[in-house]
Amino acid sequence: MSAITTTAIDIAKIRAQFPVLDQEVNGKPLIYFDNAATSQTAKNVVDALVEFYEKDHANIHRGIHTLAERSTKAFEATRERVHRFINSEEADEIIFTKGTTESINLVAQSWGSKFLKKGDEILISQLEHHSNIVPWQLAAERTGAIIKVIPINAKGEILMDEYKRLLSAKTKVVAVNYVSNSLGTINPIKEIIDLAIAHGATTMIDAAQAAPHVKLDVQELNCDFLALSSHKMYGPTGVGILYGRRDILEATPPYQGGGEMIKDVSFSGTTFNDIPYKFEAGTPNIGEVIAFKYAMDFIDDIGHENIQAYENELLEYAMDKLQQIPGFTPIGTADNKASVISFLMQNVHPYDLGQLLDVKGIAVRTGHHCTQPLMDFLKIDGTVRASFAVYNTKEEIDIFCDALQKIVERFK
Ligand code: PLP
Repeated sequence: MSAITTTAIDIAKIRAQFPVLDQEVNGKPLIYFDNAATSQTAKNVVDALVEFYEKDHANIHRGIHTLAERSTKAFEATRERVHRFINSEEADEIIFTKGTTESINLVAQSWGSKFLKKGDEILISQLEHHSNIVPWQLAAERTGAIIKVIPINAKGEILMDEYKRLLSAKTKVVAVNYVSNSLGTINPIKEIIDLAIAHGATTMIDAAQAAPHVKLDVQELNCDFLALSSHKMYGPTGVGILYGRRDILEATPPYQGGGEMIKDVSFSGTTFNDIPYKFEAGTPNIGEVIAFKYAMDFIDDIGHENIQAYENELLEYAMDKLQQIPGFTPIGTADNKASVISFLMQNVHPYDLGQLLDVKGIAVRTGHHCTQPLMDFLKIDGTVRASFAVYNTKEEIDIFCDALQKIVERFK
């Protein structure tokens, strides 16, 4: 048990960073419980974005004028910041992408095109988001590799014995999420990686849901690739990163061709830039990358340990209250969970529930959450998902539970 309590969290100070929360939706104070889809953006992040467009807007790396130097410096400062945030060995191991989806596509396409061949096996889990399934399906189609799925139990936990059984000399890559977006399961990622390494497999970790909740240390994890998205971490949309160890990135062919990723171009051939630029063709989301640095500052200022302890408190509080509502069925009850509650309510379709909650100013997600194979396994079409962030409160959970109670009574 962590000794940290809510006293470590100054909720008023945190909420002051999110003016978006201070509004009414449908005549009711907004309660934002759709954080697993995207979290709200911290004010210091928005300020940095505005400052960039008002004062420093220039393209990076190519200009010698003052604005270009300023924007390049700020852009590269975010790379340094990510390097410290995930404890990579070097900043050059950080590649900016549009987000987790693009990062995984980069690996599946570029690394996959060189290193996957007919009969090789790609291991993914039953818990994956579509963005850690479809890129591998495309890679498998192109290369003749085969996808194998690591099964889970009814609680939504990876079956480690089954995983061990599936691993073999044929396993070329293990691509799994750290935290499930649909169920909140926190996977035993270190053990998963260690076992993959023992079988000579490359590892690709989807940390989209982990990054806002769990401290990431890629050297300790010893993974080959890791992806995350800024917009789930209180940062801007359109930015994410791919971490790759230097040796593996150097061995991986470029993803897209264009400016920035080359050393020399002639009609007889092209030589490619060094990492990370080899993978950063074209003009990126410069302002958003620059502002992303402030999202990591926001998280680190509070501290992952404090965030996790507080969110766990919210999770336990909400589960205690929800269990008392007749007809409440949690979907995904892993022992180790992030602050995500997927559920069904007897007699009320998730879509209707989502709409009725919206009428009360409460934002939740409904549907398959981009995990259709997981829903198929659970034999359901979808769920209602409430996912908490560090700015949510127990008072909001009270209002949410009251609203649910009233809706259930109407549908009795
Ligand atoms: N992986 C997981 C576990 C996710 O939750 C998401 C988004 O919901 C993604 C990947 C895709 O992230 P993005 O849409 O930012 O590329």
